Amino acid sequence: MFFCPCLWRRNTNTDEDSASSIISSIHNNVDDISNNIGSVNISEDSAVEIEIIQCTSCEQNIDVTSTQTSNTDTNNNNNQTGTIDICFPTTMDSLLKHDEELFKQPPRVEDCPICYLRMPTLESGSVYMSCCGKLVCSGCDFAPLFDHQGNKVARKSCPFCRVPRSTTPHEYIERYKIRVEAGDPIAMNKLGRCYLYEMFGLARDYTKALELYHRAAELGYAKACTSIGHAYNTGRGMEVDNKKARHYYELGAMGGDVKARWHLGAMEYRVDRALKHYLIAVRDGDDDSLKCIKRLYSDGHVPKYEYTKALRLHQEYLDEIKSTRRDEAAVAYHRYY
Ligand SMILES: [Zn+2]
Ligand SMILES: [Zn+2]
Repeated sequence: MFFCPCLWRRNTNTDEDSASSIISSIHNNVDDISNNIGSVNISEDSAVEIEIIQCTSCEQNIDVTSTQTSNTDTNNNNNQTGTIDICFPTTMDSLLKHDEELFKQPPRVEDCPICYLRMPTLESGSVYMSCCGKLVCSGCDFAPLFDHQGNKVARKSCPFCRVPRSTTPHEYIERYKIRVEAGDPIAMNKLGRCYLYEMFGLARDYTKALELYHRAAELGYAKACTSIGHAYNTGRGMEVDNKKARHYYELGAMGGDVKARWHLGAMEYRVDRALKHYLIAVRDGDDDSLKCIKRLYSDGHVPKYEYTKALRLHQEYLDEIKSTRRDEAAVAYHRYY
């Protein structure tokens, strides 16, 4: 896989309001470019010759300074070829452009389709309906349902399409599969998790999980990028690769996934860059990032005004998503959105 810093610059100019279109086009361009760069010669000691290649998207020259081979037996054969795995932007200009896009506050996720309030960004604040593929907020999920005569509906149904909820593990999986066939990236990500964590009676299957994650990522679903980042970060189903983990976390974070942003903050060695990630995540409601800023402040790494700013941003987010129904759901489920 190969990526050039122009990917961020070019794609964010296309549609600033759509996180999914940004991620989708970045993901596709990564594949486009990787198909065009061919291979490089590997010498006897497996060191790769440094060469200049031209990015097919922005036509700028980039030094290939670090590569990784796909073959495992490079020590035994001279003059083998291997595929370029990661290319690092080497110019200050390209790094600055990359950071400019990376540290933008991402576009907001869609509002709840029932109450039209801002959807909580944390997963605990919304529920996915595998019947119709809608994501509804915890308050609308918790609210009682009534039929046309005003009687309370006994069996819990989808608050959007009124189809009765799944009741068995088999039913859950079958509905996810139907939604996957319909091209629903949320269902792809959820079914991938089921394969990865052996949920609803499924046997663990890393290959199927990763295939589903990649399909969802290609459709522009930010959380799927984060799922791929987790796989590279933890080595689930593949070898640990921190560079690729960071790459996919960046795609997830730019698409608006606060947990990807939190991971990027945790991976940073520089406090100023970590703080930038945490502040963006806090503005979108991530309390883990708020705790990290509090710890940085307690340890004397960031000034008090930065911690005060983080508290203010987090409160602004809470004010935006607050509703009576959501408060009731939070009390009932013993969790806060
Ligand atoms: Zn709602
Ligand atoms: Zn439904």
